[in-house]
Amino acid sequence: MSTEYEAVIGLEIHVQLSTRTKMFCGCELSFGDEPNVHTCPVCLALPGVLPVPNEKAVQYALQIGAALGCELSPVSTFDRKNYFYPDNPKAYQITQATYPFAVNGRLGEVRIHHAHLEEDAAKTIHTGGGGRISGSDASEVDFNRGGTPLVEIVTEPDLRSGAQVREWGQLLRATIRQLGVSDVNMEEGSLRCDANISVRPVGSDELGTKTELKNMNSFRFIERGIEAEVTRQKEVIAAGGEVEQETLHFDPSTGELHSLRSKEEAHDYRYLPEPDLVPVVPSPETLEMAKSSLPELPAARARRYEEIGVSGQAALLLSFEVEWAEYFEGVLEAGTGIDPRVAANWVTGELAAELRRQDDRPLAESKVGPAALATLINMVAEKKISHGSGKSVLEEMVSSGAEPESVVAEQGLEQISDSGELERIVIQAIEDNPKPAEQVRSGNEKAIGALVGAVMKATQGRADGGEVNRLLRQHLGL
Ligand code: ADP
Ligand code: ZN
Ligand code: MG
Repeated sequence: MSTEYEAVIGLEIHVQLSTRTKMFCGCELSFGDEPNVHTCPVCLALPGVLPVPNEKAVQYALQIGAALGCELSPVSTFDRKNYFYPDNPKAYQITQATYPFAVNGRLGEVRIHHAHLEEDAAKTIHTGGGGRISGSDASEVDFNRGGTPLVEIVTEPDLRSGAQVREWGQLLRATIRQLGVSDVNMEEGSLRCDANISVRPVGSDELGTKTELKNMNSFRFIERGIEAEVTRQKEVIAAGGEVEQETLHFDPSTGELHSLRSKEEAHDYRYLPEPDLVPVVPSPETLEMAKSSLPELPAARARRYEEIGVSGQAALLLSFEVEWAEYFEGVLEAGTGIDPRVAANWVTGELAAELRRQDDRPLAESKVGPAALATLINMVAEKKISHGSGKSVLEEMVSSGAEPESVVAEQGLEQISDSGELERIVIQAIEDNPKPAEQVRSGNEKAIGALVGAVMKATQGRADGGEVNRLLRQHLGL
């Protein structure tokens, strides 16, 4: 029997902090401004300048460390990571290599090895023709980004699939977003994720040789990139080969992996302690504040929702965005006796879908408040209208902002509660559709669908599905 292999994945996530100014100088942070307007001698690395740490960045970093359940270091230090590239004018990046500000955390099922502070590189732009220096291919550098405060989060290799990485990544993003310390926007690069990937025989606890998948701008692409790389590694091993250490890029448009550099070309960063900066020594009060000021984070919120009966999937969806969570809680408050599970399904299912359909409207601009939705949910729960009618009432509510009672009255959607009337319609439907009726009678129960459809059409969806089924079966002799 051939050996089964499993994927082993560890992540390195870069989070740009949304401070007003850069990590070691007073230049403003900006995204999308003219190139090279937010620069100064420090972030351009002119001779003779000295870095001054941004206190707010340290505070934000400590909040992230606390939210990830890390031990916050009473002392952390900066190091120089040496490499030569145009995005790095000092020829070294200031980072924390030996004593990071936070260690040994956990978020959900994934352990956090550590988190450290560093400065971002400038942005290189490959112009492919329009370069100012040579008319042809050129690379230009925008130093606006250079020196932006970054927190790098390094996980233990605890993840096992691309899908798990996507889900966990979304939880991480939601957690940091809730702290308000970063935009965590992957398309704009304020959240960037590298995945380290290896495979090993199931049951082994040794680590295989890993490759590193660089910098993709969405968790969907990361998921697909990881799946492609895991498949590739398994194939290499199945063919009797060995995985080689290399850095890869995944092209989501073709689904292909390209090698960026191999082990031989790997950098030696010659880390050195940064002599121009004293250690970071937060006061005990600062450390305490970082922990005690945490809001309820998505993981805890999701757990709380599951405890009141919300399905796991809906609980997570609601918890990822505070405004959705608050909306959901508004529905529960407004609707006495409302079932949280049912309410969560309306909010994350029907309402979310309807907003998407109608101009992809954000929740904040929804014309349907939590109280109106609660009323609608109760009307369905009390069988005043059918579930199908409920959906079309919601469609009207989302588009016009009308109250559910008036939409129901205007469109005449009250469920047919007179069972005599419904029974007449059922009998008529059987008469009008002899073929499916015969099929049902001779044992093909699925054919009942056509009759249910006929009744729903005749009643314009105003009949209770369960009742229609019951009456049809009764009259067909089932
Ligand atoms: P490096 O020295 O190459 O930077 P580290 O040990 O610092 O490697 O780990 C960097 C990241 O790679 C971490 O997220 C870690 O969990 C992950 N990692 C390390 N070894 C493996 C492996 N064999 N397979 C998958 N991930 C790994
Ligand atoms: Zn500057
Ligand atoms: Mg490392």
